[in-house]
Amino acid sequence: MLFCKNGRKDDLVVEGRVIDPAQGIDECLKVTIEAGTIVRIEPAGSSSTVLAPAFVDPHVHLRTPGREDEETIATGTAAAAAGGFCAILAMPNTDPVVDSAAVLGSLVELAQQEAVVPVGFLGAISKGLAGAELTEMAELADAGAAGFSDDGMPVRSAGLMRRALQYASFAGRLLALHEEEPSLSGDGQMHEGAVSAELGFAGYPSVAESTMVGRDLAIAAYEGQPLHLLHLSARESVELLSRAQAEGLGATAEVTPHHLVLTDEAVRSLDANVKMNPPLRAEADRGALIAALRSGNISCVASDHAPHARHEKEAPFEEAPFGVTGLETAFPALYTHLVVPGLLPLEVLLERMSAGPARAYGLPEPRIEVGALANLVVLDLDGSWQVREDGFRSRSPNSWLLGETLHGRVVMTIANGSVVYG
Ligand SMILES: [Zn+2]
Ligand SMILES: [Zn+2]
Repeated sequence: MLFCKNGRKDDLVVEGRVIDPAQGIDECLKVTIEAGTIVRIEPAGSSSTVLAPAFVDPHVHLRTPGREDEETIATGTAAAAAGGFCAILAMPNTDPVVDSAAVLGSLVELAQQEAVVPVGFLGAISKGLAGAELTEMAELADAGAAGFSDDGMPVRSAGLMRRALQYASFAGRLLALHEEEPSLSGDGQMHEGAVSAELGFAGYPSVAESTMVGRDLAIAAYEGQPLHLLHLSARESVELLSRAQAEGLGATAEVTPHHLVLTDEAVRSLDANVKMNPPLRAEADRGALIAALRSGNISCVASDHAPHARHEKEAPFEEAPFGVTGLETAFPALYTHLVVPGLLPLEVLLERMSAGPARAYGLPEPRIEVGALANLVVLDLDGSWQVREDGFRSRSPNSWLLGETLHGRVVMTIANGSVVYG
């Protein structure tokens, strides 16, 4: 389900404080890698460098095919390597849409030629993302689809949603849902609340997300099928998810760094780089998202890396497209804004950026253990750096963090036994 170019397998020794939350490890160790495989782990002297299982991003837009001016598989996976990721999943809302084995097959070939880190591709739920006719999910799964999503668009029809759950289960893949009731989000530009009223922008209320979350959790419970909720933003959605999980539903969910760090107050800047779908919401929503990430009800951090051309994001706020980049800043942003102020323990963040998303999609969990292929990130938590456009490997500059100084630096990334960054 994951594809990349056949990189050389490296020999190296890395040393530091190993934090592997899934295995309960937190101690200073020396890790010896030969031909890409971890062959020895021994005690080492104390160190401030952190070694952790490399990150897995379950939600990336690589813009290929169709908008290679915004991102390619080569630049997107290079950005992933710089962000500490050893695997990413790409969404199918490209041009053409990844809704046939033919389109998927050409992406797999391209990934085998140019992907620096392993990438998986989700296939569309409906043909052309039009919400009318299901794709051939079994065929897409055979061709390597890692899951199914109409991301960018909701699945409007409840009946189609029900059949999608049935077919996804036959295909043995997860459905990942962009939850938005379009008759409620309308032409909303930002979260509907006091700030939108003050700024005079059309509002996109929380209930546009939570009503669809409620509908889909109910259908999934009725069908007895798991599902994955993309980029949750609203407190009400988190409450519905937690209740469904308590009742035994196998639902997983993700949250983005921007929804964990910012609120709709940020929109006062009128910077188009804080315009995203779903929109930044209120402080109570942010608090609920952080609490759910800590408790594990939300088990994945996802960047929702959405590159856009400069001229498109330089438009006035109301005309600019939704979406921001995030692969290269995900860990430092969350380390700076959640771990340093004491809102989230470091080991929880590391788990939700690696084992959590891998588990949700049934991908191999990166582990620091003898015999495992090395998938490791080396972090300098004392290092700080300024986010600058010219520092990005991504082809698009639309980061919400431009100019900000962040703590925590990715020093090296090892993916699939190859040093891909550092
Ligand atoms: Zn989406
Ligand atoms: Zn997305």
